[in-house]
Amino acid sequence: MNKSKIQLTTSCENIEIKYIFWTKKMKFFRLLFLILLCSCETGAQKVENTPNDKSEFEVQKSEQEWKDELSDLQYYVLRKAGTEPANSSPLNDVDEPGTFVCAACGNSLYETKHKFESGSGWPSFDRSIEGSLALSSDTKLGYKRDEALCGQCGGHLGHIFNDGPRETTGMRHCINGAALEFIPDKNQD
Ligand code: FE
Repeated sequence: MNKSKIQLTTSCENIEIKYIFWTKKMKFFRLLFLILLCSCETGAQKVENTPNDKSEFEVQKSEQEWKDELSDLQYYVLRKAGTEPANSSPLNDVDEPGTFVCAACGNSLYETKHKFESGSGWPSFDRSIEGSLALSSDTKLGYKRDEALCGQCGGHLGHIFNDGPRETTGMRHCINGAALEFIPDKNQD
């Protein structure tokens, strides 16, 4: 074998080694990417359900059916994402043990034991009943807010802020009373 042939073989071997190394490197990054993707998805699932559109909710009714079943205020809040006037809901004053259910579909959403006086003028809770909500977001006021939806019918309930009681969850679910109905506990005297 002459000198030029040896040099050519050596450079081919170098290219091959570099190619194998590059392929292994790419496999490593692909694996890393997949691991990161999976961990992000797991994190998202920890929050609550976040349906892409309202057709994914279990309870489905036509707009006319919702209009017929709900009061004007309930329809405005639950189906049009409206907000009731502050301090207008009789549910602001409820402090007896019981459950707050969705006024549209009856889904159990909140319990009195997690209600607190926030001073906002709307019924406030530091947490929902686990798995009862779906979360979305809106930018109606020019900034992003976490929106609380009924996990069963997709009705708009209110918004969730992170300025709740520090001694419990630190969260404040600011909920329209018109979106709720209160069912007192049966066992109380
Ligand atoms: Fe509902």
